[in-house]
Amino acid sequence: MIVRSLVHSLGYRYVLHKKGLPGKPDLVFVSRHKIINVNGCFFHMHTCKYGRVVPITNAEFWAAKRLSNVRRDRRNARLLKEQGWETLTLWECEVKNAESLERRITTFLNKDESAAS
Ligand SMILES: [Zn+2]
Repeated sequence: MIVRSLVHSLGYRYVLHKKGLPGKPDLVFVSRHKIINVNGCFFHMHTCKYGRVVPITNAEFWAAKRLSNVRRDRRNARLLKEQGWETLTLWECEVKNAESLERRITTFLNKDESAAS
């Protein structure tokens, strides 16, 4: 997984799929109270071309499944926010550009919430 090894090589320590958190987020940075999720474009209905693919077979099944994924994503995101977690969502289609990926990850992880004001 590209994101995982990149984050690791940047020297950040994380927990994978931490139990007890809504949606079992992909990468959890416990001390920073931050989360990185990597979503598949098709399964989570990204607005890109991959997310808008309509399967030829079992179209109704997939539509229902993907919609429930999106609803669950929204609910989890809200719950995590309520619990004080900050989340960065990366999409499959975005992780191919290593340079911009690295920039987004380091910006997100280094951003100090208390410096926001
Ligand atoms: Zn996408």
